[in-house]
Amino acid sequence: MNAGTIDTVVPAGEPWMGTIRRGQSFRIVDLEGNQAVDTLFYNALDTAEHYSAQNTIQSQRRIYLTQGTVLLSNRGRPMLTIEEDSCGRHDTLGGACSAESNTVRYALEKRHMHNCRDSFLLALATHATDLTKRDLPSNINFFMNVPVTPEGQLRFADGISAAGRYVQLRALMDTLVLISNCPQLNNPCNAYNPTPIRVMTWESA
Ligand SMILES: [Zn+2]
Repeated sequence: MNAGTIDTVVPAGEPWMGTIRRGQSFRIVDLEGNQAVDTLFYNALDTAEHYSAQNTIQSQRRIYLTQGTVLLSNRGRPMLTIEEDSCGRHDTLGGACSAESNTVRYALEKRHMHNCRDSFLLALATHATDLTKRDLPSNINFFMNVPVTPEGQLRFADGISAAGRYVQLRALMDTLVLISNCPQLNNPCNAYNPTPIRVMTWESA
């Protein structure tokens, strides 16, 4: 691997931030299977530009993300493309879990529990960025299964990923990556069992 590349394991339930350069490939590996990886992307040179679920869905005319999907920014520019995907489907509708959603979806006493939104904010504070709560748009949930029914309902369903499956993106601009390796304990998407992931970069051929 070249200097400046990333190859690290993100423990279960932890956030991670890193920068990938334009032209690099970025792989996220679901090491043990059925993990949900809540992810946001920002233009590393101007963080007011970030991933847009709306623009991406509208442009590809599909709800799920998979190989061939071009992730668009809020300015309509291509940020990354999914070049390989051994899972087959990733969600960008379900959002990130939060203290509030823990309360609404599960129970009042779940409010204090570790959640992705707090993990995002912790990572932003830890890395001394100038990004705040206002800079958290709708995210991607890699490996998460949120099927949309013919009636238009969202289901948080059992995971379809498995140990060793991965998604690989190529950066089309210098990109800041913000990940919450979802710590949720109340949701079948990760089999009620958060597990580690591996993130890697390298120069594309
Ligand atoms: Zn979560």
